[in-house]
Amino acid sequence: MKNIKDLVVMITGASSGFGEVTAKMVVDNGGKVVLGARRADRLKALVDDLGADNAVFAVTDVTKRADLDNLAKVGTDKFGQIDALVNNAGVMPLSRLQSGTVDDWDRMIDVNIKGVLYGINAVLNPMLKRGAGKIVNVSSVAGLSTTAVSAVYSGTKFAVKAISEGLRQEGAGKIQVTCIYPGAFTTELVDGVTDDFVRGIFEKRNIGQLAQPAERVAEAILFALNQDVGVSINEITIRPTAQG
Ligand code: NDP
Repeated sequence: MKNIKDLVVMITGASSGFGEVTAKMVVDNGGKVVLGARRADRLKALVDDLGADNAVFAVTDVTKRADLDNLAKVGTDKFGQIDALVNNAGVMPLSRLQSGTVDDWDRMIDVNIKGVLYGINAVLNPMLKRGAGKIVNVSSVAGLSTTAVSAVYSGTKFAVKAISEGLRQEGAGKIQVTCIYPGAFTTELVDGVTDDFVRGIFEKRNIGQLAQPAERVAEAILFALNQDVGVSINEITIRPTAQG
């Protein structure tokens, strides 16, 4: 069965953080990538860097179902099919419920849950028809337990866990499903945390200092993608050793 060097991997949230690093690692290992996010300039620069023979992008807002369908089409038109999906785009504007930042709740639900579902929808049936496909969903350690400032974010990441397990059972024999739960890693994600109360907690816990390089998470994603057809790495929890 195919391992990374034979794979066409569609990656959402590829303009920074885990998505960008994963794209580079897939191409370094001989694979092809189909990149989606909203920031066209970042995606274009990444494709220029990776080479047009190895990478293609489409400006994609994962809250729009048609954008995910289009991304899969762009990838299929260029490389023949989508072998794997890394459902990675996400936002984390943490706050307490009492802050009433309902627009942020809506955004987290739209990006972190609906975006994941739209990604799956864009690739699943062709994979089932072929009898093979790999789907990696990026949850969070916040998808394993909740804190007082992560009720909504955790809700979305618990949902990714539930969706992954349902997908695993439904796709048994055909789809290799992985749900990954990262702790604190250095990306742009924390830039989206603007709430003073939450920033204070992050500072107290030294989150900025203990965070580890995004490459460690990308390596875990590649480990899952690299499995032979008979084996699925269903869950990976990965944290900085220093994270309590
Ligand atoms: P980044 O902020 O660096 O990357 C997030 C990516 O998501 C960007 O490429 C961004 O691209 C994209 N994105 C956001 N909104 C949308 C949208 N509406 N449509 C399309 N793309 C969107 O953070 P990370 O790399 O850390 O985040 C990747 C995933 O990892 C997320 O799901 C996050 O929840 C998860 N995670 C991260 C952890 C960490 O410590 N870093 C820990 C646990 C989980 P653009 O703005 O160009 O659209």
